[in-house]
Amino acid sequence: MSENSSASANIGVVGLAVMGSNLARNLASREGNTVAVYNRSRYRTDELVQAHPEAGLVPSFSYKDFADSLSTPRTAIIMVQAGKGTDAVIDELVAVFEPGDIIVDGGNANFQDTITREARVRETGMHFVGTGISGGEEGALNGPSIMPGGSVESYKTLGPILETIAARAEDGAPCVTHVGTDGAGHFVKMVHNGIEYADMQLIAEAYDLIRRGTGKTPAQIADVFTEWNQGELSSYLIEITAEVLRQVDAETGKPLVDVILDQAGAKGTGAWTVQNALDLGVPVTGIAEAVFARSLSSSAGQRAAAQTLGGPSPVAVQDADAFIEDVRQALFASKIVAYSQGFDEIVAGAAKYGWDVKKGEIARIWRAGCIIRAQFLNTISDVYTENPELPALLLAPYFREHLEAAQDSWRRVVADAVRNGIPAPAFSSSLSYYDGLRSERLPAALVQGQRDFFGAHTYKRSDKDGTFHTLWSGDRTEVAQDPSTH
Ligand code: NAP
Repeated sequence: MSENSSASANIGVVGLAVMGSNLARNLASREGNTVAVYNRSRYRTDELVQAHPEAGLVPSFSYKDFADSLSTPRTAIIMVQAGKGTDAVIDELVAVFEPGDIIVDGGNANFQDTITREARVRETGMHFVGTGISGGEEGALNGPSIMPGGSVESYKTLGPILETIAARAEDGAPCVTHVGTDGAGHFVKMVHNGIEYADMQLIAEAYDLIRRGTGKTPAQIADVFTEWNQGELSSYLIEITAEVLRQVDAETGKPLVDVILDQAGAKGTGAWTVQNALDLGVPVTGIAEAVFARSLSSSAGQRAAAQTLGGPSPVAVQDADAFIEDVRQALFASKIVAYSQGFDEIVAGAAKYGWDVKKGEIARIWRAGCIIRAQFLNTISDVYTENPELPALLLAPYFREHLEAAQDSWRRVVADAVRNGIPAPAFSSSLSYYDGLRSERLPAALVQGQRDFFGAHTYKRSDKDGTFHTLWSGDRTEVAQDPSTH
């Protein structure tokens, strides 16, 4: 490793669009950091340096000068458009950096790409760290939740720098931890986003049920969410939901939520979470329903054509306050299921890709800075720290008690939704998952019988070892299969 005498910065940022410029300013505002900055188009660098002289940023206009401005081991965070942009910048940095230097990708990369990139950069003797960063623009500036992967060795240099900029939870702990090697950080960020989809969908269903069930206005429902935010549902997403519902459109005087086109967009991380869950064989029904609900909302042509389809005769809600309390309980129960499923995917991903992921630590770093930050993550962190081998989050005593207490409300809400023709896919799939998990016998036995009938896929018996096939098209006797051929 060479001495770099002209170096004045301990950390660099490449890519100075909204995320990178905010992250650079955040880094610069923390004691001990001097920040080198580079952007492909010069104007962004000039604008940032001129607008924020207080940051003392060290600008460069070539990758060579950027490398020279960093002390060794050089540490640079890439915040550019995910995909080709990231690969282009990695190539440039590898050409001017040296073995031992650390290249960090803070963009929203697919974790599989991160695994590939880490292996490629490792061959040069440099470190590559794919890191999830959550909290949007505001978080990048004031303190995001940070989920770095990469080698343990690189974290020794990078960790203390990231700790200076990460969000702080109520107990003062920074919301960053070394998640695991290579793609672990981006995998965990992906699941974070999947859980975010489920959380948002559940909240949206709660709003819709209350609105259609009780006739309350968006402003009145905003008050309900504000009240819920004082209790066990307290979270950033509940808080902003109240703000959105309270907003009045200046042009029409209507609630803003009534003039926003009801077709939800998506940037793809929710779909990635579901695609990987399918590959891993983990049911993440809450997240999947949330992704599909956005797809359904955006199927404008089909929705228009379906307006003539018949529905049920509505059954009026008798007691609005009792109904709202039922919805609150159903929301909390469904949310427990969604988080439990999300952590199941993290466990399965860690097992498949060889990451030593600490679930309690993940919940701990999600307590502040990120979009799903919530009171309830303190409990998840405690639960997993006390019992890392818990078979499922929802089996922890605290969550089990809440699920059991919410039973009647949860079932009434799903039944009311069905009877009134109000779609509640995340609420109802969460309840079905819960019932599936606790069922002593499942009709999967029948599915195995069907599979054996048409495809000779064989089955196992619950009363003895071995693999069996029934001669369906013959005399229907059962034959034991030779274990060496099955
Ligand atoms: P962005 O719009 O995704 O990307 C624009 C930046 O990428 C510009 O600096 C651009 O440089 C640079 N760039 C694109 N292709 C390049 C190439 N081939 N070589 C060099 N630079 C290239 O920026 P952003 O919204 O700030 O997001 C940055 C990253 O953070 C993305 O991966 C994004 O997914 C992730 N992220 C975003 C959020 C969010 O809330 N926005 C939250 C978390 C993570 P020029 O100026 O030269 O065009």
